[in-house]
Amino acid sequence: MKTKNKEKEPKQKPKFGTLSCVRFMWRLALRHEPLIIFVGMITITLLFVLNNLIGLFLSPMIISSIEQALPVYKVIITILIFIGAGMLVDGLKNYLGGFEWYSRITLRSIIISMIGDKCARVSYSTFTDDKKFGEACRKSSNATGSNSGAAEAVWQTIQSLMVNLINFAIYVVMLTAIEPILLIIILATTVPGYFYSKYINAWGYRHRAESDEINRGLSCVLQESMHIQSAKDIRMFGIRPWFDDMYKSGIRLLDAFHNRGARVYIWKNILDIIFTFLRNGAAYIYLIAMVLENGMSASEFLLYFSMVGGFSGFVSGILGGMSDLRNKCLDISAIREVLTYPDAFPMDDGKDVPHTGCPGVIRFENVSFRYPGKEDNPYVLKNINFTLSSGERLAIVGVNGAGKTTLIKLLVGFYDPTEGRITYNGVDLKDLKRREYYKEFSAVFQDINIFAGTVAENVAASMIDVDKEKVKKCIEYADLTKKIESMPKGYDTLLNRNVYEDAQDLSGGERQRLVLARALYKEAPILLLDEPTAALDPIAESEIYNKYNDMTNGKSAVYISHRLASTRFCDKILLLDNNIVAEEGSHEELIRLGGKYAELYEVQSSYYRDNCENVEGGDGK
Ligand code: ADP
Repeated sequence: MKTKNKEKEPKQKPKFGTLSCVRFMWRLALRHEPLIIFVGMITITLLFVLNNLIGLFLSPMIISSIEQALPVYKVIITILIFIGAGMLVDGLKNYLGGFEWYSRITLRSIIISMIGDKCARVSYSTFTDDKKFGEACRKSSNATGSNSGAAEAVWQTIQSLMVNLINFAIYVVMLTAIEPILLIIILATTVPGYFYSKYINAWGYRHRAESDEINRGLSCVLQESMHIQSAKDIRMFGIRPWFDDMYKSGIRLLDAFHNRGARVYIWKNILDIIFTFLRNGAAYIYLIAMVLENGMSASEFLLYFSMVGGFSGFVSGILGGMSDLRNKCLDISAIREVLTYPDAFPMDDGKDVPHTGCPGVIRFENVSFRYPGKEDNPYVLKNINFTLSSGERLAIVGVNGAGKTTLIKLLVGFYDPTEGRITYNGVDLKDLKRREYYKEFSAVFQDINIFAGTVAENVAASMIDVDKEKVKKCIEYADLTKKIESMPKGYDTLLNRNVYEDAQDLSGGERQRLVLARALYKEAPILLLDEPTAALDPIAESEIYNKYNDMTNGKSAVYISHRLASTRFCDKILLLDNNIVAEEGSHEELIRLGGKYAELYEVQSSYYRDNCENVEGGDGK
């Protein structure tokens, strides 16, 4: 785990300012959880102020009663009234706080859901390749991941800022009316100390990127070491000490970082002590002089002295609260950045997808592409031209990294071409409503995702309106019926053990068949299969091929495979090599051509032939 030991980080410039972020949160709360505003920010704030005033006047009132030689019962009644009022206010504050706390959590979960919505709606290329979006997402997830994240904790900051501001105003009025000189003493000893402390405290924020990086590394190591998917490798390769070393080196970095911080922060404590000493000393001298020269009473002395401490606390509280609010708003700004992030292309604007009643014709016209993100990303595809006719079955072949998957991503509109254009029934994809266009496709991608839900929900890719009969049919097509029906809960069996304790595990091949069933369930006009049989055994693979005609009946299909025997089922084959379409034609045509396809085919067939001969030889002898 590495990190940079930089003293100076570039200053973070949030896209949205502090006030704008507070307004955003305030409006959100008014719309979804008004309790936060009316109970938390108004009622509880006023109760805090009241509580403080009761505390301020309690001791001076008791001493004043004694000074006035009031009867004991009156003194006791005064004490009881003050204590009773304090308890009542405190109780009410805590009682209302319980409700309000729940509203804060609810609002945070609403924000989480807004971010989730945006991440699901945003264009694929923004989500996967845009570093700025990724960084804003990471910050947003920190800001919403716990009660102490900015999306919830900001209310605490706003509330204490408001309490301090109201108390400050009350004390200013009281002190100006009685002893304005005390006001000057307090301000002179609090404000400079605060700003110096703030400068020191800002060290943590100036170095936030550094500590974030270390913490990110630590949590990655922790997550990986605990993940079910790592369990086999940890045991097989004895990786545990590796995780230990990485974790320890992360902890050492964090330790060194905190030690550097502690050496800086110690000056803040020293400064706090010096300024408190100056403030209290000056206030004592002034008040004692007032007692000796002007005959100030003990109760007044106590009241003013308490006000000095309190007032100074409010000034620091306001200044500290403002800087805390600014910091919280950096995270809230990241949340808003995610929510308002401009898309690489509009997902819902544009023309309707032109339908003809048959699968659409897709045409690549001089398409070149390199991945967005970095200026110097190389071209993955250059000058690609081909047509996927309606109902055609197209195979894309080529060595690893040739750009097959990239071509599929372009075809479905996950990315726009860097040069050239792709049309659907003659209309440029860029002009079509992208979300509507996705409905034309059903796909099995290489990275298989089984969602936390039942088998049926996974096939239907939905929790509602699952057509059980259709699920069964698709499962049958994918040759998984026996397995699913052997499980105690059948189609209602839960999958994903990371989420459900009683979930079932499926093998790699079974997972692949399940996503094939999902692709078939969607019944889209164009089927995309990116190595859909890679995890299947040869018999299962051959059974799927036998059903391939049936599966793709009436549809267009694009099929990526390394097993060239499977491409025979296709009408046309594109061979990608050196970023271009090097060969194009049917299986027979390409074999006759005697080029790269024929060479790859020969290598694979001889491998299978040799293996079969060996197996036959072994058995026969
Ligand atoms: P294939 O499917 O033929 O194995 P891919 O289309 O997955 O190949 O990848 C083609 C090339 O594009 C590879 O060199 C790969 O490293 C690169 N590539 C894939 N995805 C990205 C990405 N998101 N950003 C940058 N380069 C990528």
